[in-house]
Amino acid sequence: MSNGSNQVYLVTGSNSGNSQNYLKKAILLIERIKNTKILTTSSIYQSKSYGQIKQRDFLNQAIHIETKLTPYELLEEVLSIENDLGRIRKERWGPRTIDIDIIFYGDEKISTPNLTIPHYDWKNRDFFVAGLKEIRCPYIEGNGLSLKNVKKLV
Ligand code: ATP
Ligand code: CA
Ligand code: CA
Repeated sequence: MSNGSNQVYLVTGSNSGNSQNYLKKAILLIERIKNTKILTTSSIYQSKSYGQIKQRDFLNQAIHIETKLTPYELLEEVLSIENDLGRIRKERWGPRTIDIDIIFYGDEKISTPNLTIPHYDWKNRDFFVAGLKEIRCPYIEGNGLSLKNVKKLV
């Protein structure tokens, strides 16, 4: 893919069920999205859960894709993969089998009720930045996080 393709960075996350397996399945399903190709995946990073709700550690992985889909088409695809992998939405930030966030879509900036790009909180999340740095995401240059809250798993 060269013409009309966009460089996009996703981060998947899981802290319920067999999390490593969910991350693996997510990659297989992302690979099948039309007009989309996976270029690189990061290691898996483990971190303590975030926010108020007490729950299991999270596993996260960054994925660099190239896609001809628009940001909204891509959002639809990733939400549908979450459904296929059995994600049930209860409380926000609660345990989940799989979460797929679009962190960057080229250098586009989008701010609508259903879609915010770049992800609104990426700078504060070591578990995003660690994987994105590893796969040399160009949009995080100059970020000074110490990344002490995450540990490389595999
Ligand atoms: P957080 O957004 O803080 O990481 P979360 O991932 O748990 O929390 P979800 O319940 O997965 O939140 O998502 C709620 C909604 O966020 C989705 O239905 C989607 O419409 C919207 N959303 C907005 N921006 C994005 C984005 N960049 N990537 C994925 N979903 C997004
Ligand atoms: Ca998320
Ligand atoms: Ca999400």
